[in-house]
Amino acid sequence: MIRSDIKQLAAYHVPDANGLIKLDAMENPYPLPDALRDQWARHIRSVNINRYPDAEMDDLRHAIADRDGLQANQVLPGNGSDEIIQIALIAADQGACVIPQPTFAMYEIISRWLKRPVASVPLKEDFSLNADAFLRVCAREKAAIAFLACPNNPTGNMWTRDTIRKIADNFRGLLIIDEAYNPFADESYTDMIAPRVIVLRTYSKVGMAGLRLGYALGHPDTIAQLNKVRLPYNINSPGQVSACFFLEHFHVFEEQARKICSNRSRMLAAMISMDHIEAFPSQANFILLRVPNADATFEALKQHGILVKNMHASGGLLENCLRVTIGLPEENTQFITALKEIVSETGN
Ligand SMILES: *Cc1c(COP(=O)(O)O)cnc(C)c1O
Repeated sequence: MIRSDIKQLAAYHVPDANGLIKLDAMENPYPLPDALRDQWARHIRSVNINRYPDAEMDDLRHAIADRDGLQANQVLPGNGSDEIIQIALIAADQGACVIPQPTFAMYEIISRWLKRPVASVPLKEDFSLNADAFLRVCAREKAAIAFLACPNNPTGNMWTRDTIRKIADNFRGLLIIDEAYNPFADESYTDMIAPRVIVLRTYSKVGMAGLRLGYALGHPDTIAQLNKVRLPYNINSPGQVSACFFLEHFHVFEEQARKICSNRSRMLAAMISMDHIEAFPSQANFILLRVPNADATFEALKQHGILVKNMHASGGLLENCLRVTIGLPEENTQFITALKEIVSETGN
C-alpha cells in the first residue's frame, strides 16, 4: 500500500520545547509590538473566509516585488520556502539534485520523496565551497537541479560572490540560491537571477515563522513554469492579508533583525573567549559551535532549561557541533552562563 522507501523514512521530528528557552529553530525572539498586533487583528477582520483566496495572489506578489525591487511576475509565493523547494524539485528536469554537505536538510528529504537522486559535495574544513568541485559533481551526476543556501544552514557562513557566480555561469540545470537568512546577511545574490537561477526568500526567520510564507524570485518565464505545479490557493486568505499588512510595517522586523545581529556579535565574542569551545562566525540568526562532547552538552543545556539543536548525529564536519539560535539578550546570557558552567565543570 505504501512505498517501501517511504515506510523507511522517519517523520520530521520537532522536539518538545515546553518550559525551555527555545534556541533551536531560528525564530525571531522579539514579539510583535502590541499596537501592531491590534492593527493586524483589524485587518484580518476584512477577510471573507467563505470565499476562496485570491488565486493569483496579486496584492501579495506586488507587495513582495515592491520590497525586493522586482516585478510581480518574478514572484512565486509558497507555504513556506519549503513548498518552493518542493515545487522546484517537481518541475526540474530528470537528473540528480546536487547540494553541499552539510546544508539544509529539506533539499535531500524532498528529493527522496520524489525519487530524485541526490549527490553531495563536501565543504572544506572552514565551510567554504569549491566551485570547481561542485561543478564537477554536477557534470558527473548529470545534475538537473542544485541548491546553495547563502548563508548556509547550519554552518552560518556565506559563500563568496565569485564562488556563486562561477556556479551560476557554468551549471546547466536549475540553480536555487536560498536566501532564508538574508535579513541577517551582508550580501544578497538576487542580481544573479536568470532563466536558470532563482532565489528563495522566507519571512519565517525574520519574525513570521507562524505565517508560513516563503517565495521564489526569478525570471518571469521560469516563475510561470514553476507556477504550474503550485497547488491552487496555496496561500490562504488570512495569510495573504497578513503578509501584505506586515510588509507595510517591515521596518519593525528589520529593526529587530539589526538587534539580533548585534546580539549575535556579543554571543560570538563570548563563545570565542571560552576555552574548549570553537564558535564559527555567522551571517545568520544562529551560531554553530563545536564542543568537546555535543551529546552531553546538549543534555546538560536542557537540564539548565535551554533547548538548542544538536548536529552531532550528522557526523563529518558537524561532529560535536551544536547550533544555537540568537535569542533575547537575557536568554543569550543564560545560554552563555550555562555553557561556561557545563564545559568548565564537566569537561564536556
Ligand atoms: C529555515 C530554512 C528554510 C525554510 O523556511 P520556511 O520558509 O519556514 O519553509 C529554507 N531554507 C533554509 C536554508 C532554511 O534554513
